[in-house]
Amino acid sequence: MKNTFDLNQQPLVVVWETTHPSTSDSAEGHALSSQLTDPEAEELIREVAELRPPIFVLAGDSLKRPGIFSFVRYAASCGLHPNMLLTADAELTRKSMAELKTSGLSRIGFTLDGPTAELHDQLSCVAGSFDCTLHGMLWANNSNLPLQVQTVVTRENWNELEAIAAVLKKFQVIVWSVSFPVPVPGDQQAAEDAPTPREFEEIFARLYAIAQDAPFKIKTVEAQHYRRFVLQEKAKARAVSIEDAANAFQDEGIPGVMPINETRGSVFITCSGEVFASNCLPVSAGNIRNQKLTEIYRNSTLFQSLRDTSLLTGKCGRCEFKEVCGGSRARSWAAAGDMFGEDACCVYLPGSKSQTKAKHADDEQQKKVSA
Ligand code: SF4
Repeated sequence: MKNTFDLNQQPLVVVWETTHPSTSDSAEGHALSSQLTDPEAEELIREVAELRPPIFVLAGDSLKRPGIFSFVRYAASCGLHPNMLLTADAELTRKSMAELKTSGLSRIGFTLDGPTAELHDQLSCVAGSFDCTLHGMLWANNSNLPLQVQTVVTRENWNELEAIAAVLKKFQVIVWSVSFPVPVPGDQQAAEDAPTPREFEEIFARLYAIAQDAPFKIKTVEAQHYRRFVLQEKAKARAVSIEDAANAFQDEGIPGVMPINETRGSVFITCSGEVFASNCLPVSAGNIRNQKLTEIYRNSTLFQSLRDTSLLTGKCGRCEFKEVCGGSRARSWAAAGDMFGEDACCVYLPGSKSQTKAKHADDEQQKKVSA
């Protein structure tokens, strides 16, 4: 699959947070007053349609937003393929699932953080969430609604990835999205709980092993260096240089891995219209209440800079994989307040690729001499 996608014009994914994160607490009044109104939400959908992203995700407590089915219908009528990432709660019923399908939803997503009720409920802090999630997944399958599942990696569950994959295999899941933590600046505990660079590699190895016979694609979020890991594994398996594996990536893509680096092609719009590149990178590029979304995405300094890999510094700036990886800009920002610095959770040392190529050439030479 030759990649002809022009990220300067078109993002890969746009996420709209349909409800305020604090609608259920004491800030409810303020939250609702700042939320995009229905006409503003429809204008947002029209503007997203102008950008034609392949993926348009409605996130947040979407089933709690009045009129959500109309928004799904409207997005579909504008030529978008609306996806929805849902929290498994009381609003989630067999009937609501069927209505989402008839409204034109293209894909539904749930979060599953553990293979058992005990672990999942503990991590989600909601008793009964595991059962509710599995019901939702079953209803999605019964409604022929394509199903995606997200798992947020934590110290408590990363030894359970195979067991979670085994649960997913009981359903018709098309994508497993494995999301890695980006500790909030100043949160020492979260920083200590996050995987070390070596642990990232170990988790990548387990995901790669699962991916070999999984009936679903596996993608990582905030772990762009999984691409580098996959290319290195492919180079080893094919006994080719990493350059050849990287070229194959350009031509064929990496099975199960997005053909482009989503760091440079994602848009996150908050419930009040603020536009970010990601919900983990809280640097605003503007607000759709004041500016057109197409203008923000194509011409704002923030989005233009994030697409420009020549601005990367540290080892990501020197890295041979920066076009297919580029590191997590959110993690770099969280760690050092610099969104163009290196991703400190990557073990790779730039230059190893040419060393591998040199070793490969040496091995070939050795073979010829031996023959
Ligand atoms: S050094 Fe940066 S660009 Fe290179 S593989 Fe690691 S995270 Fe990716």
